[in-house]
Amino acid sequence: MSRQQHNPIVAVIGGGPAGLMAAEVLAQGGVRVEVYDAMPSVGRKFLMAGKGGMNITHAEAFDDFLSRYGTRREHIEPLLRAFPPDALREWLHGLGIATFVGTSGRVFPSDMKAAPLLRAWLHRLREHGVHFHVRHRWGGWNESGALRFATPEGERTVSADAVVLALGGGSWPQLGSDGAWVSLLAQRNIDIAPLRPANCGFDVQWSTHFRERFVGEPLKSVAAAFGDVRKQGECVITEHGIEGGLIYALSAALRDEIEHSGSATLQLDLLPDWPLQRVQNEVSHPRGSRSLSSHLQSRLGLQGVKANLLREVLNAEQMRDPDLLAHTIKAVPLRLNAPRPLREAISTAGGVAFEALDEKLMLKKMPGVFCAGEMLDWEAPTGGYLLSACFASGRVAGSGVLDSLQQPR
Ligand SMILES: Cc1cc2nc3c(=O)[nH]c(=O)nc-3n(C[C@H](O)[C@H](O)[C@H](O)COP(=O)(O)OP(=O)(O)OC[C@H]3O[C@@H](n4cnc5c(N)ncnc54)[C@H](O)[C@@H]3O)c2cc1C
Repeated sequence: MSRQQHNPIVAVIGGGPAGLMAAEVLAQGGVRVEVYDAMPSVGRKFLMAGKGGMNITHAEAFDDFLSRYGTRREHIEPLLRAFPPDALREWLHGLGIATFVGTSGRVFPSDMKAAPLLRAWLHRLREHGVHFHVRHRWGGWNESGALRFATPEGERTVSADAVVLALGGGSWPQLGSDGAWVSLLAQRNIDIAPLRPANCGFDVQWSTHFRERFVGEPLKSVAAAFGDVRKQGECVITEHGIEGGLIYALSAALRDEIEHSGSATLQLDLLPDWPLQRVQNEVSHPRGSRSLSSHLQSRLGLQGVKANLLREVLNAEQMRDPDLLAHTIKAVPLRLNAPRPLREAISTAGGVAFEALDEKLMLKKMPGVFCAGEMLDWEAPTGGYLLSACFASGRVAGSGVLDSLQQPR
């Protein structure tokens, strides 16, 4: 019997952006689509991503865009070529969501929010016949190959002609994606790179005084350097250390260095717009009877968290050495001891190895089972690159399922 003889049923497990995009392609392809999600509603992380302003993609040159995927570029590139950032924007416009390009090149929905977008999308999916089953936690396959779900009514088994797994990574597990799928696929001998935090904060051993006074304080207009990468931006002091957009931008390299050597030293420039010479001149300027603190404040504008950060790395005697002080202001050596745990990270590195998948994202060892989204082994900085690749991979997996259903069994 060929699969064309009955209307095939495809189970999409995971109702995040990757799974919903696969569902859309499948529904447009005329198959019956059943979406399952462990949570009481779908798209929770997507909604969270909209909280601080939903950055959905980036308008930079496509080659620069592709470079953000680092060593996984070769695997992500074909997915993004099939659904590039411009196509994603067109798709949003088709949902009635206008977009704009911010000054940094980041692309946002006009209202910066995820909720209206998700609402319009779910409405369209339902109109196309997609069925949703929430509170269905997938727990692998039974002996006859049916999908097992834990539901409030007990275990339910479901047979499907094909499956798209779009289960997300392991960050913010309270939003649904908890990485529990790793053991289910590992049991099937699927090659999975360990899940690791990406776009994450780090532990720093602050003094008690500094922690008590400055937790929650932003460090504004600073630059951070690690290796040959230097970025300007903002970060924030946390109880455990440091985090924020500036730190996320360097976090993959910092995390790898900590894994390799046990710690990583980040250099923070507290006056990134000042050349070293100017800082040296101001620090060395005679201060008469004024304290060093008021000297730093009046001549360099350094006070509060920035001034106290210097005291975290220099002792009183070192603070009185103008040359050392000036160099430290331009490069505070901040020792990072560990990345914050995966559950706190914005995204996840590691996941299903691309080598375990064919070019349509089907598991080579499990014909008919496709994977998409953050559960694949790639990572990217923030800036819309995460969602862009999740959407694109969902489309490729969805069209891969349609192709596979055309094949004789
Ligand atoms: C605070 C925050 C802000 C972010 N901001 C941005 C941003 O501005 N721009 C950007 O590009 N990216 C952003 N991201 C990242 C982005 O949200 C994710 O990369 C994206 O949601 C991943 O999509 P996904 O479909 O692969 O997985 P998810 O969105 O994680 O969806 C996976 C789904 O699978 C379900 N699931 C998991 N396990 C099971 C199971 N066993 N059974 C059934 N269902 C299961 C989950 O409930 C979930 O609904 C942000 C993330 C966070 C946490």
